[in-house]
Amino acid sequence: MAQLLDGKQLSAQVLQEVASEVELLRAEYGIVPTLAVVLVGEDPASQVYVRNKVKRAEEAGMGSIEHRLDAGTTQDTLNELIDHLNNDPQVHGILVQLPLPSHLNEDEVIAAINPAKDVDGFHPLNVGALASGRASLVPCTPQGCMIMLRQIHPDLSGQNVVVVGRSNIVGKPMAALLLQADCTVTIAHSRTKNIESLCRNADIVVAAAGRAELINADWIKPGATVIDVGINAIDVDGKRKLMGDVAFESVARIAGAITPVPGGVGPMTIACLLLNTIRAAKDQLS
Ligand code: NAD
Repeated sequence: MAQLLDGKQLSAQVLQEVASEVELLRAEYGIVPTLAVVLVGEDPASQVYVRNKVKRAEEAGMGSIEHRLDAGTTQDTLNELIDHLNNDPQVHGILVQLPLPSHLNEDEVIAAINPAKDVDGFHPLNVGALASGRASLVPCTPQGCMIMLRQIHPDLSGQNVVVVGRSNIVGKPMAALLLQADCTVTIAHSRTKNIESLCRNADIVVAAAGRAELINADWIKPGATVIDVGINAIDVDGKRKLMGDVAFESVARIAGAITPVPGGVGPMTIACLLLNTIRAAKDQLS
């Protein structure tokens, strides 16, 4: 049976480190690292994510500011709010919860955030910095996956990794981080041919396709490490159930290590958001 990579436990350790850093910044510099979260509209999943992020920030002793705007908010109003947060010295990190309602331009909103406060790591300057190996604010989900992977592979050098998914928020930054750690990286996606055999050759598979139980035991090399980023809300007998991109039961029998869903990558993502906010606060000190 595979070793379980428990994201709840690991994120609790990271959050403790965050809390000590917060205390240090308060004692030495008199600052309270503060995260501003902007939510536009009423998307139920986004509301849960925002609530969890704010809760964890407060538990770690950080400041948090929530801006909830109605679904009809205009681009100008949102840009004005971001401008205000960019210029507020009490705010160290800004997160605009995605997706935004369809009438708003996400790229424009992301580009409007001060890169030094861009704790999601989505601003083009931060994306470029990551691609060229000079990153400071790295997207939270791939950052969390790297911390989990290091539990099993302290040295990732030479590992053969397949990342399933090529989105800007997970797949691409994940591949960039793995490449920086000297892995051999293949990015697979919806048009990839022979995806099963590619995965079967991999020492590590990172699943970020958003397709419930896409990856089953036939795709996995015995002993491989499997990181499941997927969160798919599926109706089972009239009840809403969260499922990953990996068929957990069967894959756990063959893999060497595996993350569960829920309780795997999700909690690590939030922990890394707080790590980024601390990093941003420290950078803004100098
Ligand atoms: P996305 O829809 O933007 O991208 C999905 C990617 O998967 C695309 O590149 C697509 O080409 C690829 N894909 C789709 N179907 C495929 C298939 N059948 N075979 C191979 N590749 C396929 O999604 P995203 O934003 O990258 O998120 C991916 C998943 O991760 C979602 O389930 C999302 O909810 C989840 N997620 C979880 C966290 C977390 O904290 N745990 C954070 C972000 C996203």
